[in-house]
Amino acid sequence: MYYKQYGNTDIKASAVGMGTMRYSDDDINAGNLDKCADVVLYAHEKGINFFDSAPFYCQDKSEIITGMALSQLKRDSFYISSKVNLNTLDNKTSADDFRRRLETSLKRLKVDYLDFYYLWCMLDLESFKRQYELLYKHFEQAKSDGLIKNITVSSHMQGFDLEKVVDTGLFDGMLIGYNALNYRFRQAGIAAAADKGMGIVVMNPLGGGLIPSNPDTFSYLTEGTDLTVPQAALRFVASHKEITVTLAGCTTKEHVDDAVKAVENLVERPASEIYEEYENKGVALNNLCTGCAYCDSCPVDIDIPKYMDAYNAKILGQDMAGRIKNHWGLPISKSAECIQCGQCEDLCTQHLPIIERLAEISQLS
Ligand code: SF4
Ligand code: SF4
Repeated sequence: MYYKQYGNTDIKASAVGMGTMRYSDDDINAGNLDKCADVVLYAHEKGINFFDSAPFYCQDKSEIITGMALSQLKRDSFYISSKVNLNTLDNKTSADDFRRRLETSLKRLKVDYLDFYYLWCMLDLESFKRQYELLYKHFEQAKSDGLIKNITVSSHMQGFDLEKVVDTGLFDGMLIGYNALNYRFRQAGIAAAADKGMGIVVMNPLGGGLIPSNPDTFSYLTEGTDLTVPQAALRFVASHKEITVTLAGCTTKEHVDDAVKAVENLVERPASEIYEEYENKGVALNNLCTGCAYCDSCPVDIDIPKYMDAYNAKILGQDMAGRIKNHWGLPISKSAECIQCGQCEDLCTQHLPIIERLAEISQLS
């Protein structure tokens, strides 16, 4: 396993970490939590020492499953994170509410402290400022009480906004979505964070499954390697000098093997060099929906992620109408019901022109 220094801390983190949001639904539904926990133990055996969890993942079982595995390991042999924000606190902001939420995560993860506790899922600067003002003091208290080691932030903001968060100097590290689809978007943010000595952890390195499901489009990532497209996509991210840990969501031990293989003999390069090399390859990737579903609360019940997935098909040279009707089983006509409230565009992590795309879709026959 290849290890990297986490920002200005003395933490040596594995270049790939395990995201614990993809435990098998079948195993969870059948009550086989042990089987899910085995994947964590296997990852640890293979040298992965960085595990990322959160409330609500996997039918709210992620922390519990992860804790079942971690309790079998020496505490100084792994790093574990969890997350909090106003949503997870039901908009309650007192010190006691915050502490109760943190203690629930600690209890479920079966640890006395978290290595990283995230101010979770900041979608824009306004929401960041509000949540910072209400919650940051509680993070500081928890840190001084020894319950968390590092205060970190997770964000879907784009480059320049991310820079402003980084400039506050309030965080030891950050978690962002970064992949071969959106890397142009996030250059400024990761460069600023690295300059500041922050650790950078990356989620969604496979672009919400879009990269593996379009192997021909993304085959350029594998050039000169013996890697599969998903492995190469992980390596693409992990090879950034600025990025500390690339999280792979592992359902099976084979997924762990893929992650481990992706960073074998890793060579780190500055983001600027990688950017230059890839700039002219692939398609206009920043325009693609990653399927994150953050936009999915439309007041007229348009299933936006599915329609935007179909628009991806158009960008990738495939049949958009067929994708909507045959793959998703949705009517084209639903897209015309958009009342242009703009809510989805405010929430979109890729900053896509959803209204315009729906209007275009509505013209299909
Ligand atoms: S802009 Fe249209 S698609 Fe987006 S949330 Fe509003 S009604 Fe729904
Ligand atoms: S449209 Fe935007 S927010 Fe919605 S799923 Fe796609 S990338 Fe995510």
